[in-house]
Amino acid sequence: MVEMEFHHVAQADLKLLLRLPFLLLLYRFEKGRIYTFIGEVVVSVNPYKLLNIYGRDTIEQYKGRELYERPPHLFAIADAAYKAMKRRSKDTCIVISGESGAGKTEASKYIMQYIAAITNPSQRAEVERVKNMLLKSNCVLEAFGNAKTNRNDNSSRFGKYMDINFDFKGDPIGGHINNYLLEKSRVIVQQPGERSFHSFYQLLQGGSEQILRSLHLQKSLSSYNYIHVGAQLKCSINDAAEFKVVADAMKVIGFKPEEIQTVYKILATILHLGNLKFVVDGDTPLIENGKVVSIIAELLSTKTDMVEKALLYRTVATGRDIIDKQHTEQEASYGRDAFAKAIYERLFCWIVTRINDIIEVKNYDTTVHGKNTVIGVLDIYGFEIFDNNSFEQFCINYCNEKLQQLFIQLVLKQEQEEYQREGIPWKHIDYFNNQIIVDLVEQQHKGIIAILDDACMNVGKVTDEMFLEALNSKLGKHGHFSSRKLCASDKILEFDRDFRIRHYAGDVVFYPAYLNVTFELFFSVLLSSNPVLKNMWPEGKLSITEVTKRPLTAATLFKNSMIALVDNLASKEPYYVRCIKPNDKKSPQIFDDERCRHQVEYLGLLENVRVRRAGFAFRQTYEKFLHRYKMISEFTWPNHDLPSDKGAVKKLIERCGFQDDVAYGKTKIFIRTPRTLFTLEELRAQML
Ligand code: ADP
Ligand code: MG
Repeated sequence: MVEMEFHHVAQADLKLLLRLPFLLLLYRFEKGRIYTFIGEVVVSVNPYKLLNIYGRDTIEQYKGRELYERPPHLFAIADAAYKAMKRRSKDTCIVISGESGAGKTEASKYIMQYIAAITNPSQRAEVERVKNMLLKSNCVLEAFGNAKTNRNDNSSRFGKYMDINFDFKGDPIGGHINNYLLEKSRVIVQQPGERSFHSFYQLLQGGSEQILRSLHLQKSLSSYNYIHVGAQLKCSINDAAEFKVVADAMKVIGFKPEEIQTVYKILATILHLGNLKFVVDGDTPLIENGKVVSIIAELLSTKTDMVEKALLYRTVATGRDIIDKQHTEQEASYGRDAFAKAIYERLFCWIVTRINDIIEVKNYDTTVHGKNTVIGVLDIYGFEIFDNNSFEQFCINYCNEKLQQLFIQLVLKQEQEEYQREGIPWKHIDYFNNQIIVDLVEQQHKGIIAILDDACMNVGKVTDEMFLEALNSKLGKHGHFSSRKLCASDKILEFDRDFRIRHYAGDVVFYPAYLNVTFELFFSVLLSSNPVLKNMWPEGKLSITEVTKRPLTAATLFKNSMIALVDNLASKEPYYVRCIKPNDKKSPQIFDDERCRHQVEYLGLLENVRVRRAGFAFRQTYEKFLHRYKMISEFTWPNHDLPSDKGAVKKLIERCGFQDDVAYGKTKIFIRTPRTLFTLEELRAQML
């Protein structure tokens, strides 16, 4: 029998945690125990130092064990999700949340490593290949989707949901990645102390002289406008070494040499674009450094005059006519930056698509091999607030509201509803339901996104002020919405053009009420003779009027992707990892009480504890319970004339002396503490 240790949040600990929620976490953090269970949620506090707790020996300790049998660990959750998937053929998912730098991505990697380590005992070559691909794809995605920020040297600037598919034996046979909203504004501008995506520095620092020469690049980071802000920053990523690791990974995954070449060409194109300058001659903008234009044309395998035209004109379709309209100088700069962002985003999405092509399940016939089950791992950006927030922060924070809503639904609401349904005496525990904020953002016709869409449909006619006005008139009375204009003065100042949302985390965040006017993509790329580039811009095959048709707005696309994500997660059995950032200094020593208390609060851990404490760790239908444990009592085994499943279970529990630790629902038995379950398992094992 495994002795329960203090690190299991047993009743006594829960009481402590309830009164001073962060105290237990502090106590454990100081002892180097970074994981704590609350129910089936594992709370993780970033240790900011390497711990020797992820090795082969640790993996062995968790393999196949029950959740509460071992000290809290990511591996315990990973194993639980895996077991549920394997034993009960359930699709499961592991949702990892927490703010930037709290340790989400590291956690997702350890979970993947664990799953890779415990599967394929027979060492089938095909399964090994799939595992290798899944692990390798990570470093490619990080190179192109991560960046140094003030909070985290390796901050993921995109959301990631990864499905791993398993065959009937429980071995990985493939996977699929969904990526969400890359923070592409970072391509053209970074806050002080931050860098652009790693890929640029890796290429410049790690690319051979020959590669750089072919791209017309020089090693010096500060020569390039788009990245010179963070050029001198120290970063814990070794760019030069990482360049080779990523190049190798791309090769192993199956990127063709010409594809890898094109990836570098796009990076170089962006760096060169950033150095383009426009001068005005009369009303007409001209390009000052024409040499750069010809380099870009060469890199994109297109003609110089096409690039020039694309930079100085925009093509608009009016009815049946297609006209070229000349940019002003400001428009030309704006267009250049928009192009740089768009091309990087395309590149990133294309990389994900290529990886998916390669890792997707092939040759699996469910009629022959049985059900193919899935574990999903979600590692998505946490709540974030900057001094200047943009549309991207708006999306990120809305995403967190959605995920919080899912957590409420699954962990707080359903749990309590189940007690009610089963007729278990239960005092309802209140929690803040953030549905109201989710609605504020996404509701049809009157949510912020709907109002934004309306405004974007009429760009040119609708000004920023009109947009803000529309927000004010439709949402002015909403408790979680405000704008400066509504609050106080009757004069609108320049800086008043923002609106505020009071998020569930309690923070009020300012978002700019600016309409984003995007110019149509540059068609020069569409006419490129490089087949890889053509593949990235499939619109090249469409006619120009089709291309310029107004697509769904970025906000609506994001909203749709979030709704689909939540539906997908809700269809699976969820496991939660809640990551906590102990301090803002990346220090392994400091546990900042205030910061932690705040995170514990808004992650809903407090309510989670309350529900858990008053609730039951385990429940099962009488029938299933009896089926598993009948052999431990003479009364139920060998088969007597049993009264009813419920009656038999009652007898069995009384014989074992557990009657004080259980409650009998209408269809299920509820067991309060995990220890009872262990004992039952032990007794069962002795009988077999
Ligand atoms: P997030 O994805 O939540 O923004 P990361 O997972 O990238 O955060 O973690 C940020 C940094 O914190 C990592 O680069 C690493 O230095 C440190 N870190 C996170 N988790 C761990 C861990 N389990 N052990 C050691 N260091 C960690
Ligand atoms: Mg991350």
